[in-house]
Amino acid sequence: MLAIALLLLSLGIAPSLQTRPPAPKACKTFPGDPDWPSPATWHAFNASVDGRLIRTVPIGSPCHNPNFNATECDIIKANWHDPAFHELSPSSIQDSLWANKSCDPFSPPDSRCIIGNYVQYTVNVSTQDHIKKTLTFAKQHNIRFVLRNTGHDYMGKSTGAGGLAIWTGNMKKTEWIPHFKSAGYCGPAVKVAAGVSVIQLYEEADARGFAVVAGACPTVGFAGGYIQGGGHSALSSKHGLAADNTLEFEVITTTGQFLTASPTQNSDLYWAISGGGGGTYGIVWSATVKVFPDEEVSGASVSFAVGPNVTRDLWWEGINFYTAQTPNYTAAGAVSYAFYSGDTFNLSPLFLPGGNKDQARKLVQPFLDKLVELGIPHNVSIDNFPGYLPAYTALFPSALFGVSTQLFGGRLLPRSLWDSPQKLAPLQDSIRNIVDAGALAFDIAIRPTLAVAGNPKNAVLPAWRAAERTFNPNLPWDDTANFATTVANQLDTITHNFDEQLRKLTPGSGAYLNEADPFEPNFKEAFYGPNYNKLLAIKDKFDPDQLLFGSTAVGGDRWAQQPDGRLCRA
Ligand SMILES: Cc1cc2nc3c(=O)[nH]c(=O)nc-3n(C[C@H](O)[C@H](O)[C@H](O)COP(=O)(O)OP(=O)(O)OC[C@H]3O[C@@H](n4cnc5c(N)ncnc54)[C@H](O)[C@@H]3O)c2cc1C
Repeated sequence: MLAIALLLLSLGIAPSLQTRPPAPKACKTFPGDPDWPSPATWHAFNASVDGRLIRTVPIGSPCHNPNFNATECDIIKANWHDPAFHELSPSSIQDSLWANKSCDPFSPPDSRCIIGNYVQYTVNVSTQDHIKKTLTFAKQHNIRFVLRNTGHDYMGKSTGAGGLAIWTGNMKKTEWIPHFKSAGYCGPAVKVAAGVSVIQLYEEADARGFAVVAGACPTVGFAGGYIQGGGHSALSSKHGLAADNTLEFEVITTTGQFLTASPTQNSDLYWAISGGGGGTYGIVWSATVKVFPDEEVSGASVSFAVGPNVTRDLWWEGINFYTAQTPNYTAAGAVSYAFYSGDTFNLSPLFLPGGNKDQARKLVQPFLDKLVELGIPHNVSIDNFPGYLPAYTALFPSALFGVSTQLFGGRLLPRSLWDSPQKLAPLQDSIRNIVDAGALAFDIAIRPTLAVAGNPKNAVLPAWRAAERTFNPNLPWDDTANFATTVANQLDTITHNFDEQLRKLTPGSGAYLNEADPFEPNFKEAFYGPNYNKLLAIKDKFDPDQLLFGSTAVGGDRWAQQPDGRLCRA
């Protein structure tokens, strides 16, 4: 006990000794259980949250009997891979892996349509009171609590069978602060409510002459899983990750307290929420982040393919040269997004904030020269943009961001692999093995070092600081495959083959907790590294009843979803 107390004291979280979590009940109450709330109880709860309780009707219902409607079903199928479609739903999730074919639009009309892995009820929250009352109700009735913003999570953390969710996605307020002042920062900032999307932020920033460190997908929720999970951005080789730019959070804890978390107030909570994962420590009501004066951007795109005069070996020679080149890009402050699979390679784009066309051309010229030398025909475009938003709009067309299009793997590749051609060669070989075995490589060259991030103190996985790439060896999603085949594909091909090859090459590195294999065998080490134990203690201090759960979140291994969907103590 003394040893544990000393450890906690050394972590600066001694007060948690007074708030040790009581042992939770073995299982959450599930629909159909005798103690599941009666309709009258749900009705009364609905009245207490201003009528904002929504009973889940699975989004795919019109594709199934007895509600089958061919026109509506066609619309659902046509929009299934568009994130905006799911975002409007109170209960849908973007990654169909987590819908578990509960009510799948691509399955025959007579196949099952159940709520399944979707939550049972959602409260469309707009006030702190709605959130607190939902927490109290979930606790009182021992119901699984789910925290959902846009439902983008690839790890399935924003849904849950038998769950009662709060949906923060409609809280869209922002407050632009010209002169934020704190001990560590004086300058422009923006306070962002829990439901603000990346594109809303970009548009508002543009109108005010600012740029914000945020992600590539327009519909991702900025203050939810994105920033709390770290959040990579086209600006990250220049300004660090999104979590590196946090100034303070307003948080509602699962015990109903409203707290400010900053480097000087509840600093342990601030540290954890800045990179230690969404849906784990509390419900973020708002995040305040630094913003940067907007500046010109240059972008380059390059593509080439296997063809009549380009053998596969030659194609790989071109890609291997690209791989060797990227440290020059990231050192210059660029982030370089490459997608390659089958027989096509797309660098789309190299994004150089603060750079002009000549500088972008200079960066990619050795790569272009090599393609010429190899006799590989290629397409190139290099452009200048007056600011972040015009560059973002041109270089990241929204069609790029489909959902349920891929099964994800992922690994952070440390810069040390680029120390010499001899060290790089095994990585190049593995990438070739992986892609030739059918992977879609989603390969981001990015350098969010502590130095560019301004030496923040936060829970971002340390492996990010040494990373040159976040590399996702993905598999194409098959809408028509059955669930067992999909899971087997994920496990056999990604978990035990693609990612395993990368793990072997990168001992001590890790993976981006938001974009990786949800079945990562050692998620604690891979997603949280040496921060794990400290994060767990902070979680238990602020979420003593363990209401917040995600299978890959900190503390997630203490609970397990049973085959019937019920969540039980592991
Ligand atoms: C198409 C696509 C493109 C993407 N592009 C990028 C990218 O460019 N860069 C990048 O870094 N990531 C990217 N991501 C990953 C993205 O950052 C994560 O999926 C992230 O978890 C989404 O957060 P959300 O709040 O929008 O989603 P949700 O699924 O609603 O929530 C994600 C997690 O955050 C928790 N959470 C949500 N709101 C809150 C809150 N208010 N307080 C506490 N916890 C909360 C949830 O419980 C859940 O655990 C992309 C994902 C997709 C699907």
